Amino acid sequence: MNSRSLLAALSLALLLSGCALPERPVAVSPAAATRFHDAVDWSKAGDEAVETLRGYLRVDTVNPPGNETRGARYMADILDREKIPYAIVESAPGRGNLIARLDPPPGTATEAPLCLFSHIDVVTAEVEKWPKETGPLSGAIAPGGIGADKDKPYIWGRGALDMKGLGALELETMVLLKRMNVPLKRSVILLAVAGEETDSSGAQFVVDHHWDKLQCSQSVNEGGIGIKDLLVPGQTVYTISVAEKGTLWLKMTAHGEAGHGSTPAPGRAPDRLIMAIRKLKARQDEPIIHPSLYELAARVGHEHGGITGFVLTRPWLVDRLVLDQLMENPAARATLFNTVNITGFTGMKEPNVIPSEVSAIIDGRVLPGTSPEKWLEEIKKTVDDPNITFAVIDAHGGNGSPWDDPFFDALAKHAVDGRAGVVAGPALSPGYTDSLFLRNKGVHAYGFVPFEISKEELAYFHGRDERVSVENVKRGLRSLFRAVVDVSAK
Ligand SMILES: [Zn+2]
Repeated sequence: MNSRSLLAALSLALLLSGCALPERPVAVSPAAATRFHDAVDWSKAGDEAVETLRGYLRVDTVNPPGNETRGARYMADILDREKIPYAIVESAPGRGNLIARLDPPPGTATEAPLCLFSHIDVVTAEVEKWPKETGPLSGAIAPGGIGADKDKPYIWGRGALDMKGLGALELETMVLLKRMNVPLKRSVILLAVAGEETDSSGAQFVVDHHWDKLQCSQSVNEGGIGIKDLLVPGQTVYTISVAEKGTLWLKMTAHGEAGHGSTPAPGRAPDRLIMAIRKLKARQDEPIIHPSLYELAARVGHEHGGITGFVLTRPWLVDRLVLDQLMENPAARATLFNTVNITGFTGMKEPNVIPSEVSAIIDGRVLPGTSPEKWLEEIKKTVDDPNITFAVIDAHGGNGSPWDDPFFDALAKHAVDGRAGVVAGPALSPGYTDSLFLRNKGVHAYGFVPFEISKEELAYFHGRDERVSVENVKRGLRSLFRAVVDVSAK
């Protein structure tokens, strides 16, 4: 935003600031559900969730190779103890996927099942780079906060955030529903899959071969999270991912005469490749704004109030004043465009040999609404060189779910939990998760880990110091359980 447009906006906003912000309806928990909200001993249940997570982190499900059946067995032991029925189905030897369920009495369900979804595998960890006492498989409790929070207890281990944390909360939610004998109007299904971190093989397998056991209409999985000071200082924004970009992974190959490196000549493959990349990088596309951006801005603005609130609650002002700022942030920028990202090269030979073929690997991403085929056409048109060919490595479209949905409302409501300076709203994610497969089955799939972290803590995802605060696990359990009860209790 330049200073002139800022000034114009502020004077305009001041001129109009007599106008109140539009009223926003507040989601209300059904009476059938609220009686269970505080029927739990939250201190005890929170401690139990912490121990469940610690044990889960100690199970080695590092992918590759995954060994997710170990993680599924760990959960199964707890389910056995609580007499919750489950099945473990392997997509390949050792690659277990867990489906556990709580069903209403036969013939009494009035709604399709709710899926509590997670992945069991975790990414690799460079063990030697982790602190000794708090290693990736330790599940240790040790101080881990930043600044004023440095003495706060954290649970350490690979997967604390991505995503054994939410997996443990979902398991604990099943346990609480069972122990309290909550009368259900729908099945609640715990679905924990293998292989997410490499190829989504578990989710694909379960959706292809076991959909008859699931058939959920709504789900929660990883995706958004609460981030402190995300847009304005002092305010925490919980983003609930409602849509995800798709992929177009390509090998772009330039062809030309082979030759001697001492003699530059036109039309050689490496030069062609460089030209093609230049053309792709020079594209100046118009940003495509996903409707969730306006909705999130409006919710943030409404909570914040004042001139900022005035601007954020009006899409035309967001276009004029906020978009430029978003474009400067790489993660936010990625949600506004179909993208082309060069992630590697192949085909180089000795320094003095010009190869006849050289390739760039492209990680392309498409917004929901743009098909990978359409984006490939655009890329070819931009490159416009008959000596450049494209091979598709992998491609799938993006997709989204509406946020006008009772489960979305319940997740948002209980994340905020009436606290000032906290807001929750929908967002488009630049990456994709296993939720993509469920959305393709018509599920309203939401990406939401009910933890509240700082921007610095975001670096713990896949980092060498992954951890989550005990406080987050306890508050997260309460918020997830209440949201699930709101849409499942009879
Ligand atoms: Zn994950």
